[in-house]
Amino acid sequence: MRVIVNPRHAAHAAPVEFEDGAVIPCYERPDRFGAIRAAMESAGGFTFEDPPAATEDDLAAVHDRAYVAYLREASAGAGAKVQWPSVFPYGPGPRATGPLALRGRFSFDTYAPVLRGTFAAALGGASAALRAADLVGSGAERAVYVLTRPPGHHAERDRCGGYCYFNNAALAAERLSKLGRVAVLDLDVHHGNGTQHAFYDRADVLTVSVHGDPATLYPFFSGNADETGTGAGLGANLNLPLPPGTGPKEYRRALAAAVEAVGRFRPAHLVLAFGADTHEADPIGGFKLPTGFYREMAAAVRGLGLPTVVVQEGGYHLGSVGESVVQLLRGLTAPA
Ligand SMILES: [Zn+2]
Repeated sequence: MRVIVNPRHAAHAAPVEFEDGAVIPCYERPDRFGAIRAAMESAGGFTFEDPPAATEDDLAAVHDRAYVAYLREASAGAGAKVQWPSVFPYGPGPRATGPLALRGRFSFDTYAPVLRGTFAAALGGASAALRAADLVGSGAERAVYVLTRPPGHHAERDRCGGYCYFNNAALAAERLSKLGRVAVLDLDVHHGNGTQHAFYDRADVLTVSVHGDPATLYPFFSGNADETGTGAGLGANLNLPLPPGTGPKEYRRALAAAVEAVGRFRPAHLVLAFGADTHEADPIGGFKLPTGFYREMAAAVRGLGLPTVVVQEGGYHLGSVGESVVQLLRGLTAPA
């Protein structure tokens, strides 16, 4: 199986995050990439390649140009420092006129600081996702996996957040939408708010997400079952929130409903936004899926028979994230 890697991922390494008033080491770190790659190399059957660099025009298919420019400039100006957003827009007609205010203008939480290498790392992930979309869209490959971090599915059109800067899955889906209907299936433990919102008014891109109930899990402000799309996109968004502690039995039921909805939509292509943070050992997910379940998960997706781009999202337990990805990709390309 062909794997497109983000060659610049390590340029972004947030040292810490803030959680419930405490400063803790950031879960989203370069070791995640190494753990996944090592497990894949040890399993065998994967070839790894770098993508050609995407342009800012490519990013503008999903992201606001002023946001892209902000990330580029903030990264360049970060020096050795980490730029944390701390104040967010408030009041009627909020205006941001200086760099400190812009941090809040272009972020929606404090989980996506900007470092010197952030722009390069985020651009590398976008490049990898677009390359994978082109390979699958041209028919050269039936399934391609995008090995990248930082993840992307929380990134909004003009805001970073939740460890995410550019929405890799949305960029791949947008590119594939030029060729016909596309479905995005998000199987990270967190709701893919950015991806949902990128296509919320579109009838030609179905977004389906199985995730932890936002009543108790990040990103809190989206991911409820009654968010079904708007305008022409009404009915083209499906959220399947599940309670904390969800195990294989409950997950299987939601996955079947998600896969059925994708099949009914009759897309030409599928983007699978995969997060291994549904694993039972994940430090922040709260679900209870064992490693072997990812093969079954993939078999359900494989049953759709769709050309597929798999984009890596979350997954923060270094001891299991690699094998979880291997199980998923094996299940996607070989009979269960
Ligand atoms: Zn996640």
